[in-house]
Amino acid sequence: MASETESSTGYEIVIGLEVHAQVLTASKMFCGCPAVYADTHPNSSTCPVCLGLPGALPVMNAAAVELVLATGLALGCSIPDYSKQDRKSYFYPDLPKGYQISQYDLPLCVDGNLHFLSGGEERVAGISRVHIEEDTGRLLHRSTDTGTEESLVDLNRSGVPLMEIVGEPDLRSPEEARDYLEALRQLLRYVGASTGNMEEGAFRCDANVSVRRKGDAGLGAKAEIKNLNSFRAVQRALKFEEQRQSQALDAGRPILQETRGWVEDRGVTVGQRTKEHAHDYRYFPEPDLPPLKVDEATVATIRSALPELPLARRRRFVEVYRLSESEAALLTTEQPIADTFETAVGSNPTPERARAAANWIINDLAGISAQRGTPADTLPITAHQLRELLDMIDSHQITVRAAKELVVALEPDESPRDGAVRLSLLVLDDRSAIVEAVEAVMVAFPEAVQDYRRGKQAAIGRLIGETMKRTGGRASPDVVRKELQAALASDCAETRV
Ligand code: ADP
Ligand code: ZN
Ligand code: MG
Repeated sequence: MASETESSTGYEIVIGLEVHAQVLTASKMFCGCPAVYADTHPNSSTCPVCLGLPGALPVMNAAAVELVLATGLALGCSIPDYSKQDRKSYFYPDLPKGYQISQYDLPLCVDGNLHFLSGGEERVAGISRVHIEEDTGRLLHRSTDTGTEESLVDLNRSGVPLMEIVGEPDLRSPEEARDYLEALRQLLRYVGASTGNMEEGAFRCDANVSVRRKGDAGLGAKAEIKNLNSFRAVQRALKFEEQRQSQALDAGRPILQETRGWVEDRGVTVGQRTKEHAHDYRYFPEPDLPPLKVDEATVATIRSALPELPLARRRRFVEVYRLSESEAALLTTEQPIADTFETAVGSNPTPERARAAANWIINDLAGISAQRGTPADTLPITAHQLRELLDMIDSHQITVRAAKELVVALEPDESPRDGAVRLSLLVLDDRSAIVEAVEAVMVAFPEAVQDYRRGKQAAIGRLIGETMKRTGGRASPDVVRKELQAALASDCAETRV
């Protein structure tokens, strides 16, 4: 056992990922059927085209092409001026046409790269290509009441637009592969090309993995791992493969070029089939669709409409707002949150305002969202509400403590000012009420008063806290401190007389 572990470290893992992402369009790739298939009645969103009926003709969805182009450009790809669709033929009951329309030798986008952070460092991994593909239908396998097995076919997903993003074998650890995937998903979401939702199958990954002796330049035979349903599964499966392959090589067994399936509950991959070759699919040009010619003007228009990408935005947040790396990372994970931050702080904010907004979002608002189970890209209050709240805190209209109460109770369109009035959370600027609370606290905590008078300055903290409590957190701590100091001093003078 010890020797196996020892010698395993003599290998380097090589990973290349293939991602299928659902393109975020209203309709399918080659017909007008709605592309939304979650919670739909089986086979309700179908037509002769996506049912594969003879004689039906496909028409390319222009919106899908634009989103794939936008993704390619965001990944720094070149856009060849000519690209075409091909038929990838195979038999499976979820594929009524007997072929999938995909792109073989002339994809829409080629030769890009993804910049991402891994272990605190910037990495670059090559992107071989981004191409258009259509999704297949789905099979539902189940047991009937009489105990027999049956399989049902649902073609609502058939023809839904996908893009395949093929990565170069540039990744060198399971962790790096996971960071690459998360960055890719984030980029797709920023571009608006896909929801990237893994649970709903809108972001699927096949992982190609091989090992080689450290220092070797060539690539070893690879296994392609399927059925990876989460980022964690990808990382675990790659770890498993690294072990399996290096141990096999150590034992003198060659690595088969094959497709393997990840079995989540056992934590292993199992061989499924030896790898098929391109010629098995009998690829040939799709005769029912014209080639795609993408002109420079279109590319320029799409490029200029790209948003600021995650890594650039994160860097800018550090530079412009003086945030820490981790604050900037958290704020830019989801584009709408980054937008909320920037709208709330306005242009040219002071570093204090930026830090305050960052703290509110990261520590308070995101926490409330998580507790409520709302999506990761939503916050409980709007940018304008946050901005007004920060103004109110700055101008001492509300204490931080009261503001925290306010944000959980604010109505969707309510201004924080109105909310604070409704909930009686505005700062208590009634001096007599504060003085009254101060006096009551001094009577209730004579030891703290004594301590303070004997020179133990810190004792005032306790008295401030107690006074704040009595005002329901609504008095300004600064005012309370002043009133307390005055009262302690004058009381002192009185007793001395
Ligand atoms: P195939 O002929 O199996 O389709 P490709 O060269 O098209 O192989 O690559 C498919 C995917 O496999 C790509 O993501 C690529 O990075 C990855 N890949 C190719 N060779 C290896 C290897 N030896 N080890 C790990 N990944 C690899
Ligand atoms: Zn259809
Ligand atoms: Mg290939």
